[in-house]
Amino acid sequence: MEDCIFCKILSREVPGEIVYEDDDFLGFKDISPQAPEHLLFIPKKHISSLNEYEEGDAELMGKLIFRAKSFLNKNGYQNYRFVFNCGSDAGQTVYHIHVHAMAGRKFVWPPG
Ligand code: 5GP
Ligand code: ZN
Repeated sequence: MEDCIFCKILSREVPGEIVYEDDDFLGFKDISPQAPEHLLFIPKKHISSLNEYEEGDAELMGKLIFRAKSFLNKNGYQNYRFVFNCGSDAGQTVYHIHVHAMAGRKFVWPPG
């Protein structure tokens, strides 16, 4: 997608601190970290948000969570928070589906 910042990080048009890549997914550091470890994991396939996520992508999205949590486990994290923001009221600012993987501090509930 032409104007998608995450597609541009994927294609290396825009620099990103990439920490993980495989055939289907990319993981990189959030530019504005909200925790000592704050990574974003995306499918390489451009899906705008959870609203556009269709059942045919269920396997892909399941693997996204698995690969992201495996990355955290391999890097010593057993306590972490995954967040999907969907839509502007939920705080979504980038419309390429991503899971925030945050770790390295204590989190509170309910979230803001
Ligand atoms: P959202 O608010 O859509 O759930 O999350 C988007 C996230 O992307 C934000 O946490 C924001 O800091 C991050 N972000 C926005 N632009 C860039 C960028 O150019 N590079 C990186 N690495 N992260 C970005
Ligand atoms: Zn995109």
